[in-house]
Amino acid sequence: MQGLMSQYPLTLTSVFNRAERLFPDKGVATVQAGGIERITYREWAERTRKLASVLDTLGISEDGRVATFAWNTARHLELYFAAPCSGRVLHTLNIRLFPDDIVYIADHAEDEVVFVDRSLLKVFWPLRERLSTVKHVVVMDDGVPEDIPDGVLDYETLLAEAEPAEFPVLEDENRAAAMCYTSGTTGHPKGVVYSHRSTVLHSMGALVVDAAAVSEKDTVMPVVPMFHANAWGLCQAAVMAGSNLAMPGPKMQPAALADLMEGEKVTLAAGVPTIWMGVLPELKGRDLSSLRDIVCGGSAVPKSLSEAYREQVGLPILQAWGMTETSPVATTGRIKSTLLDSSEEELADLRAAQGTPIPLVELRIADPATGEELPWDGEARGELQAIGPWIARAYYNDERSGDSFTEDGWLRTGDVATISPNGYVRLVDRTKDLVKSGGEWISSVELENAIMAHPKIAEAAVIGIPDEKWSERPLACVVPEEGEEITLDELRDFLAERVPKWWLPNDLEIIDEVPKTSVGKFSKKTLREQFADRKAA
Ligand code: ADP
Repeated sequence: MQGLMSQYPLTLTSVFNRAERLFPDKGVATVQAGGIERITYREWAERTRKLASVLDTLGISEDGRVATFAWNTARHLELYFAAPCSGRVLHTLNIRLFPDDIVYIADHAEDEVVFVDRSLLKVFWPLRERLSTVKHVVVMDDGVPEDIPDGVLDYETLLAEAEPAEFPVLEDENRAAAMCYTSGTTGHPKGVVYSHRSTVLHSMGALVVDAAAVSEKDTVMPVVPMFHANAWGLCQAAVMAGSNLAMPGPKMQPAALADLMEGEKVTLAAGVPTIWMGVLPELKGRDLSSLRDIVCGGSAVPKSLSEAYREQVGLPILQAWGMTETSPVATTGRIKSTLLDSSEEELADLRAAQGTPIPLVELRIADPATGEELPWDGEARGELQAIGPWIARAYYNDERSGDSFTEDGWLRTGDVATISPNGYVRLVDRTKDLVKSGGEWISSVELENAIMAHPKIAEAAVIGIPDEKWSERPLACVVPEEGEEITLDELRDFLAERVPKWWLPNDLEIIDEVPKTSVGKFSKKTLREQFADRKAA
């Protein structure tokens, strides 16, 4: 027997229509060079409709790729909806990638138009000639004076001349809505293509109370860039729920972020650990009474960081795990009610895990060699695999898809994890970051976590370096707190009670800063290159 419910497609147009109709007086605050710019969803919706007409006028094909090279702003949010609701595909370019990668990505996606923030023109323009498929470049004025080269179109002029469009009815919910390339730690970046259906369901996932619980009452501040896995889906979720948005624009400095959090009474903010490490000292003495969740993911959240937030701000960090390929949110670290009477120490430990899968996301761990599924006993370590309505099943035009998915269609995440009997995923490491010592694995993540708990240490990253006897041994690259010094012996003594003896690093490197990737994660790849000739002591 079949169900008798409508097959009404899940599309971003429904999300857009809802905000336009139900929340016209809510809206977006964006930090720009001249101060905060405010726009209501009423104005935003009208401008988004005009933008769709502009895409027609510019002759962008029916499913043409509309690229952005931009900060987190209300204009970027207009593009987030004008492109997919008019049938096109939004493609967010990562402004911090190497030029060759940006050119590869824009060519591979066949971008037809690029919308660039004026303050980013100097980064973008040198690449312009190399972009073979791009027909138009449109500049969005963010108040930063920058010479506009001939032939570049002006966003506001185009909008002023346009009529608001009626969005077409999109019959096929599986139609592409947006693309995002993974930052590509090995080889060329890989393209992930989100559909209307996957984005709508992922947004609903963000509204789930046991996930991010995005609601109409919220003011959401995505510090995570809109080019990093769609700002973790928070922008579409906020529009769906009718939340206000607080957009940091180009002002990503810790003090500016703290100002925005306090000034806009932000309730939910999200960013990678390095952001929250930087912001914490700036939060002293601020009124953060509105804040209910600080979401953090992208790399492991050190227990010491979460605890520091709990002590100073009164809120521990809410960890989330995911990947560009998982839209990206797949797990969140809420504590189940059945575990709430655990000790403070146990709770802190639980929050340092990546959390439980959110509804509709299926996870499993598998033996990387045999593919055999491993038990959820908190001990067995295996490759984390995922499947679900917002998990990728292939990469765009890429023969490497074959290696990244299992025969039964699950995404191979490249992360190694344990899953506890009550469903908490704990990431051991990325496969390529594990330190292979004497046929066993040392988790660089766990070791870093233990090192960063040392009061004299601000940041730490662990990489494997070659060793004749053990194959690899851990090298601890450490940034001391300002004015502090630390020796290898001191560190080993501290770690002796916290990690197995054979994990103790036999080498310490004091560095000024841990190098970061284009999305602000610790770049172990750069460290490995930096210490390529290093042999274990
Ligand atoms: P990139 O591969 O460029 O870093 P993604 O942003 O898609 O691009 O990164 C996904 C990866 O980030 C995951 O596979 C995982 O290794 C890491 N990651 C994401 N969230 C967490 C988390 N909460 N804890 C540890 N690692 C995380």
